[in-house]
Amino acid sequence: MEEYLNKLNESQREAVEYNEGPSLVIAGAGSGKTRVLTYKIAYLVHLGLAPQSILALTFTNKAAREMKERIAAITGDQTARRLWMGTFHSIFSRILRYEAEHIGYPSNFTIYDTTDSKSLLKAIIKEMQLDDKVYRLGMVQSRISNAKNALVTWKAYEQSKELMQHDIDSKVPLLREIYKRYQNRCQQAGAMDFDDLLLQTNILFRDHPQVLEKYRSFFQFVLVDEYQDTNFAQHLIVQRLCEQHRRICVVGDDAQSIYSFRGANIDNILQFKNQYPGCRIFKLERNYRSTQNIVNAANSLIHKNKEQIHKNVYSEKEEGSKVRISASYSDYEEGYAVASAINELRLRKDYDYADFAILYRTNAQSRILEEALRKRGIPYKIYGGLSFYQRKEIKDIISYLRLIVNPHDEEAFKRVINYPSRGIGDTTVNKVISAATENNVSLWTVLNAPIDYALPINSGTAKKLTDFREMIERFIEQNTRLSAEEMAAIVVKESGIVSSLFQDRSVEGISKQENLQELLKGIAEFCELRREEGVEQVSLADFLSEVSLLTDQDNDKDEQANKVTMMTVHAAKGLEFKNVFVVGLEEELFPSSMSKDNPRAVEEERRLFYVAITRAEENCVLTYAKSRFRNGQSAMCSPSRFLKDIDVRFLDVPADSSADTFAAARERFQRPAFTSPFQQPRVVEKEEPSFISPVAQALQRQRLTKVETATSIPASSSAPASDLSGLRVGAKVRHDRFGEGEVIAIEGDGGNAKATVAFTHFGQKQLLLKFARLTII
Ligand code: ATP
Ligand code: MG
Repeated sequence: MEEYLNKLNESQREAVEYNEGPSLVIAGAGSGKTRVLTYKIAYLVHLGLAPQSILALTFTNKAAREMKERIAAITGDQTARRLWMGTFHSIFSRILRYEAEHIGYPSNFTIYDTTDSKSLLKAIIKEMQLDDKVYRLGMVQSRISNAKNALVTWKAYEQSKELMQHDIDSKVPLLREIYKRYQNRCQQAGAMDFDDLLLQTNILFRDHPQVLEKYRSFFQFVLVDEYQDTNFAQHLIVQRLCEQHRRICVVGDDAQSIYSFRGANIDNILQFKNQYPGCRIFKLERNYRSTQNIVNAANSLIHKNKEQIHKNVYSEKEEGSKVRISASYSDYEEGYAVASAINELRLRKDYDYADFAILYRTNAQSRILEEALRKRGIPYKIYGGLSFYQRKEIKDIISYLRLIVNPHDEEAFKRVINYPSRGIGDTTVNKVISAATENNVSLWTVLNAPIDYALPINSGTAKKLTDFREMIERFIEQNTRLSAEEMAAIVVKESGIVSSLFQDRSVEGISKQENLQELLKGIAEFCELRREEGVEQVSLADFLSEVSLLTDQDNDKDEQANKVTMMTVHAAKGLEFKNVFVVGLEEELFPSSMSKDNPRAVEEERRLFYVAITRAEENCVLTYAKSRFRNGQSAMCSPSRFLKDIDVRFLDVPADSSADTFAAARERFQRPAFTSPFQQPRVVEKEEPSFISPVAQALQRQRLTKVETATSIPASSSAPASDLSGLRVGAKVRHDRFGEGEVIAIEGDGGNAKATVAFTHFGQKQLLLKFARLTII
């Protein structure tokens, strides 16, 4: 341990070793806050705390995964795997499954994603015959979400004079009724949306003191990263768990609070010391990530904010290049300028593609950048946007699987009742919905007793509904015996999805077929990896609970691949790259047009820009275009006010942008004849053969973030995945997912033989040889 603690500076080490009471680490970007948390967890385990009694909450699944890998490298994989580490949503959805009965939900509850919630709200707005231009879907959804994050249930909402008045003033007096119906329908469907996961945890802890007591004594130590971006619901969960034993450590940076639009409250971190009197506050000042010029440029920017805790952040790395500003005539040219700069930097300093990130304010900016990179042959990966699981054909199949696990799931039901087409039209479905709503039951319940619910349908329709119900019942029965991969294969065949998809020979149809195959392959890989860990029967529920919580950051198909990263600044929080391009630094875009008249919102945008710059280790380039194609037309733009906030001593500003060089550049980069991006042919690239399915990614994540190690080992005598007869301690091996490593122990024999392998990047893992995909090298 001493060897590891030596990798910390004095203040970091003090923060790691102080465990006599609550502590708060508040410090600037890149100063090692996440590192302190990681080492503290390893240190607590070293002191003898059981890993399963440590709860560590991160902002993204990716962050949890990375932290777990680092801890595994110090403590070994077995220990790291037992930690409770993940996002608030993933950890508390797991707890809610254990405790669901207390709050009137089934333990196999479905998690509705944003699309499901929107679809349900849309249906309700329609049923209530409200004007959807007044009751706009996005607005309704965010108002309900905000209410939930502030822990206002629909009942409380209804009773709040203030909220009712607010709704009347904003001309949406029936919002409370929508909220009520929405919540009832979710409950009928045995479904929780993302916000419910936090709200219901709070309700569980509030109304069931014995349950709260259990988790209070179970979680002996609670740690939270990025505390500045917690909302009230998250804050209260943490408080409930820790207010008695006070074994809590949170880390954050008020200057990086960028989620207030989702209810995050910077006061949570500012008030921490009042809430936990006597808490120790640690400040870290040295930035280990970036060169001096980058740190100084970022400091000079953030000092322009009025609301902030003053921090002294410095770097002892080399002075480095100044932060470069690059102006382009158009967004189109900006893309090319970035692509050229990447190539140039690579020539100059042998960087890998993975050393580059392009950060933008909005996802819509990615398209033109993508095109420029593609034309230059630069490989890239995009985070965010439409995830694999949101594609229609995938969501349809997943809906079948959801219905098997929870037949009351309304959104899944509506998606598949007539897919593939089986002659059950909207009119019939609407009749089922009306009967269900009137009687306060689920659609599935109505389907099971159409006569009891007086469903006004003819015998032909009744027969079709019965056939559908019997098919789902058959699946439900088979699901008690079969694994997730076997079930998925049966479902796509017997539901008619395969024949329907494979009839379509259009380019789009073929791509859907490929996606279907990809999904099946992914589920199979998921099962295989879980078997490697000793889980005998990998269930559909297992698989679904994993995929339903994938976030924007988990969409990437090839995390390890050597490619340029493209993502929004929000998604880049906590990450670092050698070279960072922040693009689109223009008024109305960054700061966003939505913030321009609101000084507090502008300060949040400035913090967002601070987050962007501080991701860079060696080179930071800020670009803006003088014209940009937005909302269907090309408009002139002016450089972002934020560029002027940075002290020029740390900047490399281009010569006057009206100079000839730009005229020449314009010639070179002139847009092609078709000026509308909507008219430009979009090159649809096929996935590369090395494509790792998102499901396989999920799997890898599962392995790294799973709370408990499964102990049951299958007794089957299937052949080893590869010939491992020559395997011995000291052998160098390669694993499909974990890369290279060295065997450090072998135990057991025959079907139970296990090897412990120290992987270079993933720490120690124990693998069951008959399943492990190892090759001796
Ligand atoms: P952010 O605010 O962006 O989340 P952070 O404060 O969490 O940043 P870390 O990500 O923990 O900072 O650390 C930034 C980088 O500096 C990492 O690469 C980390 O490994 C490195 N680092 C931190 N402390 C030290 C140290 N004492 N010695 C060497 N490297 C360090
Ligand atoms: Mg961090």
